[in-house]
Amino acid sequence: MAPSAPITQDVLTIPRKDGESGDKINLVGLTRDAMRQILIEAGTPEKQAKMRVGQIWQWIYQWGVRDFDSMTNLSKALRAELTERCDIRVPEVVSKQVSEDGTRKYLVRINGGHEVEVVYIPEEDRGTLCVSSQVGCTLTCSFCHTGTQKLVRNLTAGEIVGQVMMARDDLGEWAERGATNEGKARLLSNIVLMGMGEPLYNFENVRDAMKIVMDPEGIQLGRRRITLSTSGVVPEIHRTAKEIGCLLAVSFHATDDETRNKLVPINKRWNIEALLDALREYPKASNSERITFEYVMLKGVNDSDEDAHRLVALLKGIPAKVNLIPFNEWPGSPYERSSNNRIHAFAKILMAAGYASPIRTPRGEDIMAACGQLKSATERARKSRAQIEAEAK
Ligand code: SAH
Ligand code: SF4
Repeated sequence: MAPSAPITQDVLTIPRKDGESGDKINLVGLTRDAMRQILIEAGTPEKQAKMRVGQIWQWIYQWGVRDFDSMTNLSKALRAELTERCDIRVPEVVSKQVSEDGTRKYLVRINGGHEVEVVYIPEEDRGTLCVSSQVGCTLTCSFCHTGTQKLVRNLTAGEIVGQVMMARDDLGEWAERGATNEGKARLLSNIVLMGMGEPLYNFENVRDAMKIVMDPEGIQLGRRRITLSTSGVVPEIHRTAKEIGCLLAVSFHATDDETRNKLVPINKRWNIEALLDALREYPKASNSERITFEYVMLKGVNDSDEDAHRLVALLKGIPAKVNLIPFNEWPGSPYERSSNNRIHAFAKILMAAGYASPIRTPRGEDIMAACGQLKSATERARKSRAQIEAEAK
């Protein structure tokens, strides 16, 4: 066996198991390189290690296997070594609620006892999983429930891809051993990074998780089936194009800096002009399609005809579609949803200018699963109502 460098947690950012079962290495979420090093440490000849990674990825991500003994194309010795050193762990489901419309909301527990929410939305032609990237959020968008919860921590890549695996467990959607999901209609066919947290403030972990999602030996979803939503972390947008290459959505929500400063305070750091400059480059750099401009409809705040015309002017030159989101109210929220007539009038102006502007149907409202309502009930670090209202002014 060739000598190899010792593995340190810092270098590889390997999440270790805390608590009861010692410090086994969780293989879920590891990059191919990190897993390769672990296999070499466990006695795999260097020349074989790459192939073994591919085999183990298939067991874990295509066939949903959680024990090494079942991995029959690995030697008995390697299986024993892996059992000794590693495990395959996904977040634990604490509760599951199913909405009248079929939307499923899961509360899952991650290391340290923290909880995040994951939502599955079945539609006729697709099934979308809304994944969280952080526990809470450092940003404080005044209309967002998650924004009232302080950031607790970034999720690891394993915890992000683990949400997808948890959902596939619940949907019973693992391929038969030896088979693949390729070409089959999938219950979980799309992923949106629109749960709790700002994905671009947890770039590396989100990237590593999405690489596993897109890998032909991983979860096997094409890059155009993944949409990352950002509030506008301008310096990371180019990296997203280059290193992930998924579709991009941006929480735009306002057509002048003064309003956007209030709604999406990161605008004070990178204003509308800086954001649009970065977005203009994205489709070329990622070789992808239109950018989705998310626009939450707030009564009397950002929903006038003038806003719609200003939006059209701002979008000039950017391949874009606009997704109008009727505001989802939450207990104590400082805004109201625009009326249906107002939303349709707004959409009409955009459509007349040639922009597809679907109005997002709120899903799972009865179980508080709709966009922007996610927040784990058990997290105590909460802002006061007065603080939320002060930030909204
Ligand atoms: N942090 C990222 C992704 C998570 S939020 C971002 O801000 O883009 C996903 C989407 O839901 C964003 O467009 C966000 O602005 C929107 N949203 C947040 N709270 C909402 C609410 N109460 N009603 C409707 N949309 C909301
Ligand atoms: Fe964070 Fe996004 Fe909510 Fe803003 S909208 S507080 S960035 S989760």
